[in-house]
Amino acid sequence: MASLSGDESGSGAEGNVLVIGAGVSGLTSALCLRQKGFEVTVVADQFAPRVTSVVAGALWEWPPAVCGHHHDQVSLDRSKIWCHQSYEIFADLARDPLTGVFLRPVTFYVQHPICADERLQRKVDELRSKVREFKHDSSLIRDNGVNPRLGFQDAYSYLAPMIDTDAYMHWLLGEAQKAGCQIIESQVTGNLRQQESSLANRYGVEAIVNCTGLGASELTGDLVSPLRGALIRLRNDGKTLPRMTQAHCVSQDGSGEDRGFIFIVPRGEDILLLGGLAEPDERDLEIGLHNYEPIREMYQRCLEFLPILSGATIDAAEPVRVGLRPVRLQNVRLERELGTRIVHNYGHGGSGVTFSWGCSFEVAERVADLLAEGE
Ligand SMILES: Cc1cc2nc3c(=O)[nH]c(=O)nc-3n(C[C@H](O)[C@H](O)[C@H](O)COP(=O)(O)OP(=O)(O)OC[C@H]3O[C@@H](n4cnc5c(N)ncnc54)[C@H](O)[C@@H]3O)c2cc1C
Repeated sequence: MASLSGDESGSGAEGNVLVIGAGVSGLTSALCLRQKGFEVTVVADQFAPRVTSVVAGALWEWPPAVCGHHHDQVSLDRSKIWCHQSYEIFADLARDPLTGVFLRPVTFYVQHPICADERLQRKVDELRSKVREFKHDSSLIRDNGVNPRLGFQDAYSYLAPMIDTDAYMHWLLGEAQKAGCQIIESQVTGNLRQQESSLANRYGVEAIVNCTGLGASELTGDLVSPLRGALIRLRNDGKTLPRMTQAHCVSQDGSGEDRGFIFIVPRGEDILLLGGLAEPDERDLEIGLHNYEPIREMYQRCLEFLPILSGATIDAAEPVRVGLRPVRLQNVRLERELGTRIVHNYGHGGSGVTFSWGCSFEVAERVADLLAEGE
């Protein structure tokens, strides 16, 4: 396996840890805990493909992401650290085709010169030193075939991890199993804090890591709400569409105005994803091109934005994938719950894949700290 990072490998920590959840947060946390030396049991009621993590468009993005907002500076600063750590790991994983991770160019387009928007200028300045092959160049708009009638004025691009989550989640589970994590299919019901001792006894652990995404509402009483999203899947095999190996985005914040956001991202070798949709508090997953106008509008928006897509074929096997981003008003909860041996790692909204390695390193550190206290 591609190396994770410095002191995360084999540091000889002792103890048994229960991870609840087998999405990207749970499995990555399990791997990082294992890398530190803990014995790890993963318990989840759903595994890929029936987890939100498989739905993710899984483009690595510097926060705030195209569909996301941050409500406080501390949270934004922490997110940047997680994001940066994850970038390095994904870039490393991209060297192994079995992981499903690709490092490919993404271009972000804006309706005004970047320098006219202080917040965006700051984001761009930060990104420059964090990513590979950063470029700020308005000629990307014409060169990439963006519809000139839409009036985009500026653009920047860089190499970003783009993750084929079907392959990646399969690979992650395999890595967790190979690393010796015990994997159990089971549901945890009721308040986590109240059943901390009984869970610890049942699974023989000294600490619990909660990576339950939307499920955290039930386990903690915290408000984690769904932000529904949907991605249209086009065939990207070079037949009806020249094969696309670059992503194209327009953010909701900053420049998208009332047009909604644009998310065009190649997945693996032969699919191109079109988005995006961000619908608060909607839970129905039975929506598609045939029965839901906002998805048809999203499709038209992408075709209008990048006219070359007009002749492309929609994937007949799975035209649309729908999922619920686990959103928390205060953003990600990554902390030890006071007076317990529970570490929470949930509420990643539209950035769970992007943050996954950074958050999981921090989870492993926090578990190591709390077990070292020996209370
Ligand atoms: C359309 C869409 C596009 C997205 N695009 C991106 C993107 O481009 N980049 C990005 O970084 N992110 C993106 N995301 C967000 C990303 O998918 C999520 O942030 C991420 O998957 C959250 O992962 P998770 O492991 O926390 O949760 P999940 O994947 O939901 O996993 C939760 C796990 O917890 C288990 N669980 C829950 N409750 C219980 C319980 N009571 N008992 C036992 N087990 C339980 C579940 O069974 C599951 O195994 C997107 C999401 C959507 C829907």
